[in-house]
Amino acid sequence: MKIRHEFVESIPEVLEDATLYVSIKYATTMHKCCCGCGNTVVAPLSPNDWTLAFDGETVSLDPSIGNWSFPCQSHYWIREDEVVWARRWSGREITAARERERRSRRRFYQQRGNVMAEGVSDRTRHF
Ligand SMILES: [Zn+2]
Repeated sequence: MKIRHEFVESIPEVLEDATLYVSIKYATTMHKCCCGCGNTVVAPLSPNDWTLAFDGETVSLDPSIGNWSFPCQSHYWIREDEVVWARRWSGREITAARERERRSRRRFYQQRGNVMAEGVSDRTRHF
């Protein structure tokens, strides 16, 4: 499945399907969940969140996107404008991963003296 990317200054209010919106200015990305459930995925760009790679034609996000807070619990990579579906995680794996991410995020934001952003999507790691 393909996903197109769009570099924008600010994220539009209405998101189109299969489009990854990237705002360099606000260091964030947004897209509608690739499973088609319609939920909005916010993947901020920071050393502790996601990394965006742009090769001049396509974009990739690292690490994968795990939508554990959505009913669909979809899990996929965005690689060179392509949605690569990843393995479904068990409930236990999800709980453990979320806890790990929460701790690492809290540490990161504390170090920077920032308030932890709420409503940010879940990031997953290689497995
Ligand atoms: Zn979904």
